[in-house]
Amino acid sequence: MSAQIIDGKAVAAEVVETVTAETAKLIKETGVVPGIAVVIVGEDPASQVYVRSKGKRATECGFHSVTHTMPEDTSEEDLLAMVQSLNDDPVIDGILVQLPLPKHIDEGKVIQTIAPEKDVDGFHFINVGKLGTGETDTAFVPCTPAGSMVLLKKALGTEDLSGLNAVVVGRSNIVGKPMANLLLSANATVTIAHSRTKDLPQKCAEADILVAAVGRAEMVKADWVKPGAAVIDVGINRVDAPEKGEGKSKLVGDVAYDESAEIAGSITPVPGGVGPMTIAMLMANTLTGACRRAGVDAPTY
Ligand code: NDP
Repeated sequence: MSAQIIDGKAVAAEVVETVTAETAKLIKETGVVPGIAVVIVGEDPASQVYVRSKGKRATECGFHSVTHTMPEDTSEEDLLAMVQSLNDDPVIDGILVQLPLPKHIDEGKVIQTIAPEKDVDGFHFINVGKLGTGETDTAFVPCTPAGSMVLLKKALGTEDLSGLNAVVVGRSNIVGKPMANLLLSANATVTIAHSRTKDLPQKCAEADILVAAVGRAEMVKADWVKPGAAVIDVGINRVDAPEKGEGKSKLVGDVAYDESAEIAGSITPVPGGVGPMTIAMLMANTLTGACRRAGVDAPTY
């Protein structure tokens, strides 16, 4: 059997298309323009690439987009003041502080200073609590798990996961735990596995839905995959690729893709699977914030 390849690039493009169309409609009908502010502290090149692509995508969607670049030696106090000023800015619906922050700044404190109704990353305790208690109508859901759910629902052709066993490998606050909560909300029977889990291959092999969010290159092997399972690979790992030439590297997921694609029913590739969904869902969350400000229903994806 050969798995259906879940094309994250195509699905992300569909989400962005919906966001763009709905933004134009929102502006026309209410005058409210979705506003996103991205704050970056320091010169980390990878972070700068992410921030630029977020800004570019926001502009393409028709948003008001601002980027605040602050120097590496910015004090925690100054960063908190910046976040507070964005909290108070009526034209901003989404605030995103690019992580990681320099070591002298307490990331947790910064995240908890973002107003929950502008926390489009979904990391504030209020949004974490709302997701945990099923209050998703007023919450922001973290973008990577939200995007993974969109892919999963496309692959399975249903929003209702009743009767299905889901195993999430990884229990981080930004991926594993929110993913498990989303699967539970969709009626799956959920197991969260992590580095202390016994018999991990066997646990995974019971999964109708297998989500790998570990950060270990190709850890999940084909014999961990239940025949026909939907496999969502969140991992992004850079590994040496001598076959591409000396000193070359490539990106791989947490799942041994080629061998697992022979067993799974559907599978996300890396790159081109979950990755493109993350920025798309950030745009979707920002539009949701703007719709809430305007008092109209936000689109679903
Ligand atoms: P974390 O490092 O925060 O969490 C990794 C989790 O994997 C932990 O819960 C850890 O367990 C578990 N783990 C580690 N080793 C093993 C093992 N041998 N067996 C079982 N479980 C293990 O990572 P993130 O959640 O932030 O990210 C996970 C992956 O997803 C990374 O590759 C990251 O790059 C990628 N990612 C991709 C995104 C995208 O846009 N596609 C966005 C965010 C992340 P324990 O808790 O016990 O230590």
